[in-house]
Amino acid sequence: MTYSYIERLHCPKCDATYKANEINHLCQCGSPLLVNYDIEAAKQTWKKEDLQTRPANLWRYHEMLPIISEEHVVTLGEGMTPLIPMNKIGKTLGIPSLYMKDEGLVPTGSFKARGAAVGISKAKELGVTKLAMPTNGNAGAAWSLYASRAGIESYIVMPKDAPSITRKECAIAGANLFLVDGLISDAGKIVGELVQEEGFYDSSTLKEPYRIEGKKTMGYEILEQFNWKVPDVILYPTGGGVGIIGIYKAIVELQQLGWIEEGKFPRLVAVQAEGCAPIVKAWEEGKKESMFWEGSETIAFGINVPKAIGDFLVLEAIYKTNGCAIAVSDQEIAREQACVAQNEGVFICPEGAATFTAARKLREDGWIQEDEHVVCLNTGQGIKYPESVYVDVPLLQCGDRISIKS
Ligand SMILES: *Cc1c(COP(=O)(O)O)cnc(C)c1O
Ligand SMILES: [Zn+2]
Repeated sequence: MTYSYIERLHCPKCDATYKANEINHLCQCGSPLLVNYDIEAAKQTWKKEDLQTRPANLWRYHEMLPIISEEHVVTLGEGMTPLIPMNKIGKTLGIPSLYMKDEGLVPTGSFKARGAAVGISKAKELGVTKLAMPTNGNAGAAWSLYASRAGIESYIVMPKDAPSITRKECAIAGANLFLVDGLISDAGKIVGELVQEEGFYDSSTLKEPYRIEGKKTMGYEILEQFNWKVPDVILYPTGGGVGIIGIYKAIVELQQLGWIEEGKFPRLVAVQAEGCAPIVKAWEEGKKESMFWEGSETIAFGINVPKAIGDFLVLEAIYKTNGCAIAVSDQEIAREQACVAQNEGVFICPEGAATFTAARKLREDGWIQEDEHVVCLNTGQGIKYPESVYVDVPLLQCGDRISIKS
């Protein structure tokens, strides 16, 4: 039995190829590298019926994951999160078939655990002992915890304004944590120097090719949960863009495997915050790459990425699927978070809330039709951002009574 059909790494920009069983980061041309699989060979032995008896985690798709030998898999049971019908919100939005893929229910409370599980497993397989990465919080938390499980030492640099809980997750995991008075792009420069001087394994977004492989499993799961019928629209809160690139890659692979209808894509929507919307701007101008977004700011910290190294891949995924890009305000995000909690009983993260506001707007202007199947990605737990909710609660003295005014 072949555990993985990984074949090689491939550059989407210049078509160069690299070996899969050696450490590689960016292509010589500066582009991120993507993993190619021998799908023809996989098709001969791997059938979707095989999934029925496999555990409900992302490793059920191991044939299309990059780890060659199962003994290197580092897992906490991540994946196969619920796809929840959002009937009440859907009704108010005019989208009866509205669903939420709830990524709050994975280890570390954000979908970053998918990228960390696969990225760390592959790092272990490649013999890595020390890694370094910049982060807006959730990725650093996930990677440092999985690194500990794998026995890999981690160096994490995050903006000092990142959600404080993620700082604590890195610290409790025993990571070497540093804060920077700046943005993730500033953290990235510091990590870049460390990597050059010390030779540590660079786990920055898309500078190692395997994180995306973990994140693409969201796409596999959504399709499996729809019984291999392609939904019409998937909305994704886009920062570095790995999730949306990954979902697109998953759909392409599933088509090549012959598991879903050939040529039918969900329209992919990149949702950003008005305070940091480089992809939206590029899409509106019909560009192939984005420009650095100066002075970026938003409460949705996971999508505060002023310039993503894989921006051209995000834009390609949008153009190829007839999708779009849309920005929402922090005020709308906060209102939506409460709306989802009060109607559907889920405390979602600000990034996830942004996708519901986007769906609302796209339905209003007719871009989404009433009969369409629409999936919003909630990328993390609301409880990871306690500061994002302001509460003003009456304080009672012992013995006080509550009088309800009618
Ligand atoms: C990192 C993150 C995002 C953005 O994900 P990308 O795949 O990098 O675009 C969205 N939401 C949350 C909660 C995140 O932590
Ligand atoms: Zn290249």
